[in-house]
Amino acid sequence: MRKIAIYGKGGIGKSTTTSNLSAALSQLGYKVMQIGCDPKADSTKNLMKGKFIPTVLDVMNEKGDDIDLKDIVFEGYNGVLCVEAGGPTPGVGCAGRGIIAAFEKLEELEAFEVYKPDIVIYDVLGDVVCGGFSMPIRNGYAKDVYIVTSGEMMSMYAASNISTAVNQFKSRGYASLKGIILNAKNVDGEVELVENLCNEINSNVFHYIPRNQIVQISENDGKTVIEKDKESEMASIYMNLARKIVSE
Ligand code: ADP
Ligand code: MG
Repeated sequence: MRKIAIYGKGGIGKSTTTSNLSAALSQLGYKVMQIGCDPKADSTKNLMKGKFIPTVLDVMNEKGDDIDLKDIVFEGYNGVLCVEAGGPTPGVGCAGRGIIAAFEKLEELEAFEVYKPDIVIYDVLGDVVCGGFSMPIRNGYAKDVYIVTSGEMMSMYAASNISTAVNQFKSRGYASLKGIILNAKNVDGEVELVENLCNEINSNVFHYIPRNQIVQISENDGKTVIEKDKESEMASIYMNLARKIVSE
């Protein structure tokens, strides 16, 4: 089982990239589990026909500690297993706690042993990499980390912080940064800006994803691009990302 974490600033395109990646991996024949680690809890929406699934935290709040895997793991597009950690009501409690509680619950219920995914992908908000948000790169949860960024200053700033956090744990034999996924926002000199960032943080542009309106068109239809139009150029870009990640 391979465990991958996709980090990046809020709104940068992590969930879009991750859900298309999961869909692409499922097309390649892999059993994938995608775990949303963002209080927004919309990571898996485009794999679930545009619907929000109940979060682990919500289900635990509602039903107490005694819950089943089927309450929190949902089968989406092409058999992709979808989980959302969730988060507390804003202003009440720490968002990262939701991730910790969700991970503990998945472990207690032996989610990986029961579903036996080939690949687990964590889609993690990376604006601050503390507490729960650093869980996927600690304790052996994810081995490979990819950071999604555009050439926008704030997303590169977040990428740099995430890279620092990953390096903090690297020496202890945990996750390592495999590369940057450049999700283009078409800012001036974008590729050069992100390449410069890569030089600074000793990483590389692992994959380039252009901006394309088919992403939003698919999203409005509750779908990934892979589901919406498998033959499109954008779908082949996500398929290539999937192939590259499995061959790492
Ligand atoms: P995050 O998970 O990082 O918060 P999302 O994946 O929800 O971000 O993406 C934010 C918005 O950007 C979404 O509306 C999505 O459709 C759009 N988006 C992401 N990537 C692309 C792209 N390559 N081309 C066009 N739109 C994109
Ligand atoms: Mg998201």
